[in-house]
Amino acid sequence: MVSNSNTYEVAVVGGATAGLSAALTLGRTLRRTIVLDGGEPRNKPAAHAHNFFTRDNTPPSELLRIAREQLQPYDTVKLHQAIVTTAAKKDDGFELTTETGERFFTKKVILTTGVQDNLAPIPGLAGLWGDRVIHCPYCHGYEVRRLPVCVIANGEAAEHYAITLSNWHSDITFLTNGENRIGAEMLDKFKEKGYKVNTAPIASLERSGQGVAIKLENGESLETGAVYYRPEKVLFRNSLAEQLGCEISPDGVVTVNAVYETTVPGVFAAGDLTHPGLHQLYMAVAGGHLAGTNANRMLTMEAW
Ligand SMILES: Cc1cc2nc3c(=O)[nH]c(=O)nc-3n(C[C@H](O)[C@H](O)[C@H](O)COP(=O)(O)OP(=O)(O)OC[C@H]3O[C@@H](n4cnc5c(N)ncnc54)[C@H](O)[C@@H]3O)c2cc1C
Repeated sequence: MVSNSNTYEVAVVGGATAGLSAALTLGRTLRRTIVLDGGEPRNKPAAHAHNFFTRDNTPPSELLRIAREQLQPYDTVKLHQAIVTTAAKKDDGFELTTETGERFFTKKVILTTGVQDNLAPIPGLAGLWGDRVIHCPYCHGYEVRRLPVCVIANGEAAEHYAITLSNWHSDITFLTNGENRIGAEMLDKFKEKGYKVNTAPIASLERSGQGVAIKLENGESLETGAVYYRPEKVLFRNSLAEQLGCEISPDGVVTVNAVYETTVPGVFAAGDLTHPGLHQLYMAVAGGHLAGTNANRMLTMEAW
């Protein structure tokens, strides 16, 4: 049996940006809430978070510390470190089980478990990820503005980067890491802009002063200010949504409506998990808030 102390009105699975945003709204709406969090936010490798209203250039861990601190006055909200492994629909709610066997019963669930970046197995890449290997110019482009950069990308991804980065950088070398799949028309544009393309497979990356030293398998070495790279595939942490029967797109994105409700009544989702792109902190904050608001609204209407 699940004890009363493990019974909540709302359980938020994932306690980083989207989850803590939902928790704040739920605390302010007096809802008995538990936040279950594995403690691995996506931007953990980055020294600073940028482009975030009033908190530009703040370490990600500090943003979450402030969020947790500001939840302290709300005594209906409990934060608990745990990884949820199973989720099941019950007669009047949902049951969640953690990897250590704890069980929680809740009327509504908000999933904010995010995504996982599957980095290419290039030696040195993982160690520089979020540091001098960056994926998003909106997040980190300003800090390396005007520097010469390398972009590890091919085909459409390279073409997309070329256009986007043109306002931040003029000296750009594209590393296709094998056969060039960039379109002919775009390659003409690259020539016009002075962008370079190197197709040699990449052997390794390492920090060099403030920049990055890149070794190619053909023996060439490059020095650059920073490297742009985006994993070809991110893994949407959607296994709980799947267990609950929520609709999931072929790419793995959990389907939500405008108020962040999934296709299963009583199950909400927010943050990176619910967007194919637009993976930004402000989107996670907004989604968490809307999910929290609408979980509260649903509970209120049920009791009315
Ligand atoms: C290197 C890097 C730098 C970035 N920098 C910026 C930036 O400067 N500005 C910006 O706007 N955006 C930035 N982003 C994007 C930003 O990190 C994401 O948009 C944001 O983290 C999404 O928040 P989230 O709450 O949806 O997911 P996450 O931050 O990934 O949090 C998900 C949480 O859920 C937990 N979890 C997962 N599964 C379970 C489970 N089964 N049980 C319990 N807990 C679970 C995880 O441990 C984690 O704590 C960056 C991303 C990366 C990769």
